[in-house]
Amino acid sequence: MSRPLFYDSVTACDECDSLHRIPPLKSGERFKCARCGHVLINVHAYVKGRIFSAGCSSLFMLVFALIFPFLGFSSNGAERSITLFTVVSVLINQDYLLLSAVISLALFVFPVAYLLAVVLLVWSFRHRYIRRSIMRYLIRWVIAIQPWLMVDVFLVGILVALVKMDSLADIELGLSFWAFCAYVLLLLKTVSLVDRRWLWNQIEGQGPDYLLIERTDSDVFESAQQHGLIGCHFCGATLHHSARHCSRCGHSIHSRRPHSLTGTIAFLIASVIMFVPANVFPIMQTTFLGGSEPSTIMGGVLLLWSLESYPVALVIFMASVVIPLVKILSLSWLCWQCYYPTERKTLQKIRLYRITELVGRWSMIDIFVVAVLTGLVQMGELMSILPGPAVLSFMSVIILTMLAAMTFDPRLLWDSNRDSVSTPRQEKKE
Ligand SMILES: [Zn+2]
Ligand SMILES: [Zn+2]
Repeated sequence: MSRPLFYDSVTACDECDSLHRIPPLKSGERFKCARCGHVLINVHAYVKGRIFSAGCSSLFMLVFALIFPFLGFSSNGAERSITLFTVVSVLINQDYLLLSAVISLALFVFPVAYLLAVVLLVWSFRHRYIRRSIMRYLIRWVIAIQPWLMVDVFLVGILVALVKMDSLADIELGLSFWAFCAYVLLLLKTVSLVDRRWLWNQIEGQGPDYLLIERTDSDVFESAQQHGLIGCHFCGATLHHSARHCSRCGHSIHSRRPHSLTGTIAFLIASVIMFVPANVFPIMQTTFLGGSEPSTIMGGVLLLWSLESYPVALVIFMASVVIPLVKILSLSWLCWQCYYPTERKTLQKIRLYRITELVGRWSMIDIFVVAVLTGLVQMGELMSILPGPAVLSFMSVIILTMLAAMTFDPRLLWDSNRDSVSTPRQEKKE
């Protein structure tokens, strides 16, 4: 016997396109897609207060991280102390403008813009001083820059740089270093509390509720596409297929991301091309007692291995060689799967996609190591470190593979797999 299930607002899963009606959630509850397990909405307990306090504290910690000495360096009687600004200013003075721009964006500009936007948003949810159009703009900004926050990767980069320098010089951790650690942890906490759908619900309500969907209780997952609907990737609203822009957030909407596979394949080809110079040319140039010695990514790994710094050698090898290669291979395989699906379960493919998306930015570690060492080790002929020509090509490999993963539309994997319509439906709420 069939009976209609959905009469009010529905949402389509961002990763598999199956339709869900999200019931009113209490604080501390979240709602997962029953088909692919993707968390559709997460309503944290006391979320506004927690976001506000974590966001403000993170900004305060950044101010402390900028005004005190960050790292101290002494070798053969020569001493040097740097602030976080020095890392950027040395790169600018040495004409590495693009690298300094990427470091400034990833460390200061994006995180500060993100933190200010979320703090302003949760504050205005309560007081309503800001116009709704500005709040919409702020939410868009928050969603767009979140994948490009890399302060945690930078912190690991600093730790790797410190271990690398351990045998050559004495390193002293300044007050700002500890403030920077607190800034990173508080920023990560803020990011973990912010939920896209929750943000939009705060200013626009639960989404358009004019959609009347007659769904039958037939134990199958039905996609938005099968109902002639489109799930907005940006805010989670569900709209009629004739719509071109989301009536809730204003973003352009598509049932499937246009040219998703061609875009992903183009980014992958570009990243494979850039992978060659990234590994052939030196990534770092070390001057020691007048002699200059360039080192490639693999050269650096082998040197660390020969110096018995096994954990650091492994971290650099994994981040700089294994992760980019595995990412390129798995995304190529996923694109292939969209054209010629194998019997393998779609859920396994989706898990591979999620891992690929999650680990990609960690390849930036080596770039940050080079940037920190360049800022720190500037003793002229005695000892100095400069970025090599491979820095830009390696950075473009990482950015291109991140863009490839972002362009890929995971819903295509479900479309290409015939087993996806026969899975039993079971809604989970935690
Ligand atoms: Zn799903
Ligand atoms: Zn929308």
